[in-house]
Amino acid sequence: MAKIQAIRGMNDILPDQTPVWQFFERTVRQVLKAYGYQEIRMPIVELTDLFKRSIGEVTDIVEKEMYTFEDRNGDSLTLRPEGTAGCVRASEEHGLLFNQTRRLWYTGPMFRHERPQKGRYRQFHQIGVECFGMTGPDIDAELLILTARLWSALGLQPHARLEINSIGTAQARRNFKEALVNYLTEFKDQLDGDSQRRLASNPLRILDSKNAETQRILDNAPVLDDFLDDESIAHFDRLRQLLDVAGVSYTVNPRLVRGLDYYGKTVFEWITDSLGAQGTICAGGRYDGLVEQLGGKSTPAVGFAMGMERLILLLETLNLVPDSVTGDADVYVTAMGETAVPAAMALSEAIRNERPDAVVITHCGGGSFKSQMKKADRSGAKVAIILGENELEAGTVALKPLRSDQPQIDIVQSQVAAALTDYLGSR
Ligand code: ATP
Ligand code: MG
Repeated sequence: MAKIQAIRGMNDILPDQTPVWQFFERTVRQVLKAYGYQEIRMPIVELTDLFKRSIGEVTDIVEKEMYTFEDRNGDSLTLRPEGTAGCVRASEEHGLLFNQTRRLWYTGPMFRHERPQKGRYRQFHQIGVECFGMTGPDIDAELLILTARLWSALGLQPHARLEINSIGTAQARRNFKEALVNYLTEFKDQLDGDSQRRLASNPLRILDSKNAETQRILDNAPVLDDFLDDESIAHFDRLRQLLDVAGVSYTVNPRLVRGLDYYGKTVFEWITDSLGAQGTICAGGRYDGLVEQLGGKSTPAVGFAMGMERLILLLETLNLVPDSVTGDADVYVTAMGETAVPAAMALSEAIRNERPDAVVITHCGGGSFKSQMKKADRSGAKVAIILGENELEAGTVALKPLRSDQPQIDIVQSQVAAALTDYLGSR
């Protein structure tokens, strides 16, 4: 019978890859914790309306990328394409935003029906950060300072550049949109198909177009900058000032708009030039209108999401994963013969008591000396502990270094944990 395979664009993350994922997650957690961000965990499925009402009906995500289905009750549900909507929903539902500020983060899979390619998948993972109740721009700056610190911690700092822009208030965007549509209508026939369609539905997204001809036409188009309201200008100026003082470099990209409807004022993207076309590794902005749009009290908010697959690919491409990040064992405890099994288990437990940091694998499944030593070698362990009938009788073990030419030694069982320090380092 034909074997069933995974769905296209939905990847298995295999045991030899998970150590890098864990390293990345550990580093992010540490940085977020240092700034006082709290983790929130939301469901992966939400009512479809939540995404329609927040992301916007005429965005790529809602128009063509959502995994939407009817459940057995006849409700329309959607696998979350992003985390902000669910985070706002959960925060509102549980009163987290009532008269208080919040710094939240989450991680998990997101689902979008896109054409799978390098750095673009149908199930992918994000780490998202959302801040509520702060009008900024100090908190906008903090988010960027925090991400800059994360890039430093990962060794990515020279490989990530920051683009920022202000897309103003809703009114400023309406005025700009009108001017943009007036201008682009003259060139309608020369625009790419998507942009022609967006001219009526979501003209701002045309600025995002990857089509060269469309971009050429946009060269002479009105710029959003000229339509910004005073408050947004002041907000943006102050943000730039805060970034300058903090030493976070950026460029202002007047074309940067972001693909979701809920953004206003600050928007930003961290981009790398080392991954090809899928170079945006972290993106976000301010969305002061969203909480109210979803039925809550008007609440200022700002956040971002980073794409974990892209960041991990980047770490691997640039060889930035530290050598210490492996799935290797430290100690492999063999058991030669039936009678050695309980002793091997007890010895392993004793080592784990002394060295909770070490990866101790107890050989299971019997087999010859040769086959057990082969497994010990494959486990990546630095040391094999050999426990057979002779050793049992003598109350000793043989300790065999596997990654150096140090000699094998015999020691009494009670000394094993202490002796391991020579091979594993002290903890
Ligand atoms: P893009 O322009 O690359 O499609 P986007 O604007 O749709 O990105 P966001 O919704 O802002 O992306 O998501 C934030 C981040 O999540 C992106 O910058 C990217 O790193 C990652 N991301 C988005 N879609 C995918 C995907 N299909 N596969 C892998 N990562 C993704
Ligand atoms: Mg996209």
